[in-house]
Amino acid sequence: MLITKGYKYRIYPNNVQAEYINNIFGSCRFAYNHFLEIRSNEWKDHKKSVSYTDTSRMLTLLKSEQEYDWLKECDSMALQESLKDLDRAYRNFFAKRGKYPRFKSKHSHKQSYRTRNQNNCVRIEGRYILLPKIGKVKIRLSRYFEGRILNATVSISNTGKYYVSLCVEEELTPKCNAGGIVSIDMGISDFYTDSDGHRQENPKVLKKYEKKLVREQRKLSRKVKGSKNYEKQRLKVAKVHEKIYDVRTDFLHKESTILVSENQVIGIESLNVKGMIRNHHLAKSISDVSWSRFFSMLKYKSLEYGCEIVSVPAFYASSQICSCCGYKDIEVKDLSVRSWVCPVCGISHDRDVNAAVNILNKTMMLISTV
Ligand SMILES: [Zn+2]
Repeated sequence: MLITKGYKYRIYPNNVQAEYINNIFGSCRFAYNHFLEIRSNEWKDHKKSVSYTDTSRMLTLLKSEQEYDWLKECDSMALQESLKDLDRAYRNFFAKRGKYPRFKSKHSHKQSYRTRNQNNCVRIEGRYILLPKIGKVKIRLSRYFEGRILNATVSISNTGKYYVSLCVEEELTPKCNAGGIVSIDMGISDFYTDSDGHRQENPKVLKKYEKKLVREQRKLSRKVKGSKNYEKQRLKVAKVHEKIYDVRTDFLHKESTILVSENQVIGIESLNVKGMIRNHHLAKSISDVSWSRFFSMLKYKSLEYGCEIVSVPAFYASSQICSCCGYKDIEVKDLSVRSWVCPVCGISHDRDVNAAVNILNKTMMLISTV
């Protein structure tokens, strides 16, 4: 079976290449915004919808105009990909999965562009990666892969580091799992609690960095926007963010591999993505983002290990129901209640373990009905 997998690497463009890359970021943003305006206006003025193919044809015409001559310098596949992104944003909007597409700004959006691997134009050669229009760029190949590169996304972080993410199609090599059955209840103080009563803590070093982040952000808020010191401090904040992200990613990879290698079935609570976006509580929103990253890691790794991930609907009040007799104790809804005794069957529960066992019970029901 063929699967697609993502690989992200740091790249080290020289000054000339970096300038080219930055120009492509700008050109792609221009194409996105230009056609967003056209599509919006056509809809507003004539109730006419413009398709991806229409925009692609208009782009070719645009390139032949002298005023837009500079577009020819750009990686043409990257421009097409940004038109596809725009089209996807529209389709998400019409399917009520997303907001109306907005203009991309240099400051509020992540700077990146995606290009396709057509006729092997994106490839690894020794310590270099070949990218269309950019040429051979030095790459740090931290992980090896065997397979066909489908596309490449070049990006720059807030701290000025360049990366390339490769989407690779590769043959799945099946691995064995140890055959366990478990379910996990995600938490904020602990990362998760499983139905066997095991608590997986968050990495300790993360707390240190999160405190540092608060401190550095406070300093930033006292600096004058646009000043040299502000820029220095902004870079400091971005570096701590980056560190937190890296530590988290390592942790999520490690934990997801352990779970899929040990179990045949893993029950998880499905996440309410819409609810997550509305949540403004910082700690919660950070957890939410890493939970969905964690779940997607579990899902793709489960293919390799032949294990099944079962999503239990989130409205299922997992913490309030006695996992032993099924009695619902609404007083447990209060998050400060860490342990409770079921008034009906008399069993004492740890809040999180009970929730995990409930997810497990539900998981077993869902499996047996399939
Ligand atoms: Zn009970």
